[in-house]
Amino acid sequence: LSDRLSNPALLIEAGFIAGEWVAESLQDDRFDVKNPSTGEVLASLPDFGVTETRAAIDAAYTAQKEWAARTGKERAAILRKWHDLMVANADDLGAILTAEMGKPLAEAKGEILYGASFMEWFGEEAKRIYGDLIPGHQRDKRIMVMKQPVGVVASITPWNFPNAMIARKVAPALAVGCAMVSKPAGETPLSALAMAKLAEEAGVPAGIFSVVTSKSSSAIGKEFCSNPKVRKLTFTGSTEVGRILMGQSAEQIQKTSMELGGNAPFIVFDDADLDAAVEGAMISKYRNNGQTCVCANRIYVQSGVYDAFAEKLVAAVQKMKIGDGFEDGVTTGPLIDKGAVEKVEDHIADAVGKGAKVVTGGKPHALGGTFFQPTVLTGVTDQMKVASEETFGPVAPLFRFDTVDDVIEKANDTIFGLAAYFYARDLGRVYKVVEALEYGIVGVNTGIISTEVAPFGGVKQSGQGREGSKYGCEDYLEMKYVCLSL
Ligand code: ADP
Repeated sequence: LSDRLSNPALLIEAGFIAGEWVAESLQDDRFDVKNPSTGEVLASLPDFGVTETRAAIDAAYTAQKEWAARTGKERAAILRKWHDLMVANADDLGAILTAEMGKPLAEAKGEILYGASFMEWFGEEAKRIYGDLIPGHQRDKRIMVMKQPVGVVASITPWNFPNAMIARKVAPALAVGCAMVSKPAGETPLSALAMAKLAEEAGVPAGIFSVVTSKSSSAIGKEFCSNPKVRKLTFTGSTEVGRILMGQSAEQIQKTSMELGGNAPFIVFDDADLDAAVEGAMISKYRNNGQTCVCANRIYVQSGVYDAFAEKLVAAVQKMKIGDGFEDGVTTGPLIDKGAVEKVEDHIADAVGKGAKVVTGGKPHALGGTFFQPTVLTGVTDQMKVASEETFGPVAPLFRFDTVDDVIEKANDTIFGLAAYFYARDLGRVYKVVEALEYGIVGVNTGIISTEVAPFGGVKQSGQGREGSKYGCEDYLEMKYVCLSL
């Protein structure tokens, strides 16, 4: 991997704790980071535990006070520099990301720029953390509301967006004056370490952003939740783990932000522009090989256009090029690991066993490893696992529906509520469906919804809190109401 980098210093085999690059853990445990495409070992990292995590928290706690005392403009200048460094190093950061996670290089670079956009956006917001002056309730009273950083924030993030999931958290946290201790996924810590290197270069003070590397997370998660110096936990990952973490953080009534699982419906009405709907479905379903929490998971197509849509979708899927992320023209990489392949196979077998038909794909790819054929299933019904569970892989199950009310009911019949998409042209129908969908994000006639300027987040068991937009700062701020008697 280092041969591919113009700055090999970005490939780091140490954690970043309290402003120090720490190459060995106290227990001397290590773990390997592997390329999911080739199985090649990319790096060996120290496997840190509770003691090192505590050291990172202590340093964050001390450093945060001075960081918060700086003006918004001073913090903004550093975030701007961090953004610029990420953009300048996008090729290297993209290569590191492709190597450890598998997504195609162009997509990886896109993620780097998307991640960097949060540094830019929240750096700008740092200057605009406004409070309120409220007219007093009595003649001699003056009321103020000020916004203050929550303090030390702990972050736990998944492997599917090794850069952007951290950027979305650390940028607002640092912008408003918090410090952050980050625990990246064991599969993909290299992107986080490269980000930390650039943060250091940009002038983020020691202790303000630590990266604790570890293969497993539960001990570190417990420390994050029980350490009284940690005032907030921000998590992106599965609903299952989010529930565990919320339970643990209840102990000290920690603030939490939770970006959890999804089960996105993608609805195609009979007045939709079918070519646009296919294009949107391709992006929403197969981006990152189906491994995003906003991926279309259930595709509902109205009876009148069902066959035509299926045919066009299959034609588009058959043009995808599966392969190593570094290869030219590859649209789709491998799945992250064997477990991911097993889940995809289980969902397909379950659907086929209950009467669905595989119209394309359906099997492991000839490339072997964790490569899988992009798959389209027709004749899918509500009784199949794909209807209620997140597949997190390249399987597009096509459900048939007849009426608007029927599809709204089906779309909402899930514990999740992150993203939903639909394609329709009739304005009355568009409004009705937008209002009825119980989701935090709705894409209408588009399959791409992620941007730093909009609030990303879910309802129901998809989580709480929003990342990005002017609302993104709120998750890292406390409100203080001051009542002044003259
Ligand atoms: P994914 O399917 O994306 O791996 P998970 O929710 O399993 O989703 O993992 C998301 C992140 O949470 C990863 O960094 C993982 O290491 C971490 N994690 C998993 N279990 C726990 C736990 N019990 N406590 C703290 N972190 C955990």
